[in-house]
Amino acid sequence: MSELEARFRELAPATSRSLIQGEPCGGGELLPVWHPDTGQPLLELQEADAGDVQRAVAAAREGFEAGSWSRAPLLERQQVLQRVAELIENHADELGGLDSLSTGLLYHRSTRRQAISAAAWFRYYAELIGSTGESLFRQLPDTHTLVTREPVGVAGLFTPWNIPVMGAALKLAGALAMGNSCVLKPSELSPLGPERLVQLLLEAGIPEEVLHLVNGRGTVTGAALAAHPDVSLVSFTGGETAGAAIASQAASRFAKTTMELGGKSANIIFPDADLDLALDGALAAIYSNNGEACLAGSRILVHRKIADRFIADFVDRARALKLGGCFDDEAELGPQVSSQQLARVLSFADQLQEEGGELLTGGRRADLAGDKLADGYFVLPTVAFAPNNSLSVCQEEIFGPFATFLIFDDDEQAVQIANDTRFGLAAYVWTGNLDRALKVSQALRSGTVLINTPMQRERNAPFGGYGHSGVDREGGRWSLDFYSEAKTTVIPFGGTTIPKMGKA
Ligand code: NAD
Repeated sequence: MSELEARFRELAPATSRSLIQGEPCGGGELLPVWHPDTGQPLLELQEADAGDVQRAVAAAREGFEAGSWSRAPLLERQQVLQRVAELIENHADELGGLDSLSTGLLYHRSTRRQAISAAAWFRYYAELIGSTGESLFRQLPDTHTLVTREPVGVAGLFTPWNIPVMGAALKLAGALAMGNSCVLKPSELSPLGPERLVQLLLEAGIPEEVLHLVNGRGTVTGAALAAHPDVSLVSFTGGETAGAAIASQAASRFAKTTMELGGKSANIIFPDADLDLALDGALAAIYSNNGEACLAGSRILVHRKIADRFIADFVDRARALKLGGCFDDEAELGPQVSSQQLARVLSFADQLQEEGGELLTGGRRADLAGDKLADGYFVLPTVAFAPNNSLSVCQEEIFGPFATFLIFDDDEQAVQIANDTRFGLAAYVWTGNLDRALKVSQALRSGTVLINTPMQRERNAPFGGYGHSGVDREGGRWSLDFYSEAKTTVIPFGGTTIPKMGKA
């Protein structure tokens, strides 16, 4: 075990718990959490049961009504959020290390950077709430109409395992900035980083009646939170199945929702692109974050003229990727998060061949025999060729290091294939022709289009998807709108003429 891993293992608790009013608790089952590098038990998770969730929401509601945070002066909220950012920065190593231990995401390439980005979200919203004005309208004569934003109430925040600390931070920063109380429900596969994050937020001065953490399975802890009538706002990041269940429950009580779901993003390579750059970009878009990225460029659409060479070069580079444990600083691809996820990725290699596709490389468990990682959840970087876009590998989100090539003959066909999916999260376009880039970008039904670049996230811009990739947007001022209610206040001045009803 490396020194780094030993250090983070020492920091990890033997049992991860929930935090309600700052107190560790959990009345539910003890669940094992595995280390993806080795397939060995890492720690236990004490699940929050329905009673714990009830207590967390009740405390959050009371905290909201009491006003220590919801009615705190803006400056006070800004100062606390800035302190949160500072504390996260000071603990970025620890947060990144804890995330890597439970997810297998590479510390040097993924989780440490995600922790730094988590801090940046708190700084960003601390500043934005101080500079975003509210509105005064004067269309009515001698009347001022004010539109202000008010906190909503208790926010139920659901996050996945592929961005444990960063995903939680993005939601907490926006929701807290607008004065809401929060109950965070992270993935049961990755409880360590979010638990430490919540401890840091409390240490920075977020009142303990305002912020609570409930840990456990989606079907137990998550379901209890989603169904709670006092949760007036739901922000969910995860898969479409859980998203649909949670969204319908929220709709039945008219709770606001934002859904950040999966994708099957197209990466379109035109022959006039800088092909070396496009190759680097295509590899990064599918193999970063162990292939476990919502916006992975999992369908690579390449023009027929350049297809043979581009695909051959891609396969060579994919075969040369260095696999390794999450703290190996040379590793480019780590393990999958769980044995279920490993089996799921491999099942697509079988389906591909049954449905008439071709496996170009990978599609099986990595053979690390003799290595201490032999029982880890490693899958070889996989490349497939699909004769058409109807194959399962082109329609289903695999969420692993699995790239599928498709061939197109002209721009129209490229757009048609790219849009032929129920998802619409991201799309990538590689071309040296600005007209083509803009025309294609306009025609793509996708929440984000990236031209000649792998993913970059601008904090001021909205992020989210079309269709089954989600509902509404987060990021920038879109989060501030989502995490607040708009209130209109009408104030006439200089005398108001009102018909004197009932007075003859
Ligand atoms: P998931 O849907 O299984 O779980 C997400 C969260 O919801 C977890 O906390 C889980 O415990 C909880 N949950 C699951 N079922 C639930 C239920 N029935 N009721 C209440 N809560 C429930 O997703 P995952 O496997 O953790 O994450 C992978 C998915 O997340 C992928 O589809 C990926 O594309 C998506 N994702 C999307 C974005 C985005 O911004 N669009 C970002 C990251 C991940």
